[in-house]
Amino acid sequence: MNRNTHFDKTIKRTLIGFILLFIFLDFFPIFKNPDFRYTGSNPENFVWNIGAPYTLFIFDQKVSPYIFLSPLSYFIVFFQALFIVFLKPILKLYFYQIIPLLMNNLFYRKLASELTEIELTESGFSINKPFGRNSKSFNWNEITNIQFSENKKGVIILNYDKEIILKDNNIGWYEFIQNVPQKFTEFDFSYAGDFMNSLKPCGVCGIVAVNEDKCIVCETIAWNSQMTENKVEYLKSKQSEFYSETVKDGFKIKKTAEPEHGFKADENWILYI
Ligand SMILES: [Zn+2]
Repeated sequence: MNRNTHFDKTIKRTLIGFILLFIFLDFFPIFKNPDFRYTGSNPENFVWNIGAPYTLFIFDQKVSPYIFLSPLSYFIVFFQALFIVFLKPILKLYFYQIIPLLMNNLFYRKLASELTEIELTESGFSINKPFGRNSKSFNWNEITNIQFSENKKGVIILNYDKEIILKDNNIGWYEFIQNVPQKFTEFDFSYAGDFMNSLKPCGVCGIVAVNEDKCIVCETIAWNSQMTENKVEYLKSKQSEFYSETVKDGFKIKKTAEPEHGFKADENWILYI
């Protein structure tokens, strides 16, 4: 079920819930002295006070016309109707605007960053953000400067006066840093080249993406001789972990690794599962 259908169902259930609650409260009967005065009312007599916590009307079988409305009943029913009418747009705003905004900016900042995709285009690049945000395209001509952040985990781009930061966990970041045009002289091309050349092949996913001890693509720790499992056993178990979703979805795993997002593939890679 997609998220929007789920939200629509929740909104519908909440509305029905409130309508039922109001009906229940409006007709809740208590047998006691009358809560308000009416022509012929007697504070000593017990009558049916209908409605809680505020009595909307009284049923008095001894006094004609038997049903007596509280002066405030119109106001209360009107308020309930108003509440139901406005609840739907408020809930819609909450689920469709506020929650996605919070997801983007607060709770899922890391996830949002990991799902952001940088794509190279014919004359520039585009940034596609998740959670229904629009994608933005830039031409290299609109960019005044590109340089690495201090810790080299991001790239700071100047679009005239506006700063755009691309992080190394954005999809396509490593492809981007290899395709920055030569005219951006502040950009550290030799660092980008050295970094890509320093990567080692990953035995699990077959991509040349192991930096220090961890693969950037599949996030597996590379095997080393200090591990108790032998290399093939280790790769086999990590491969079944990494490909479990693919297998569950009924897709076949390719026997040869293919280059992706600016990374080379290892021609000698072996699939053990
Ligand atoms: Zn890997």
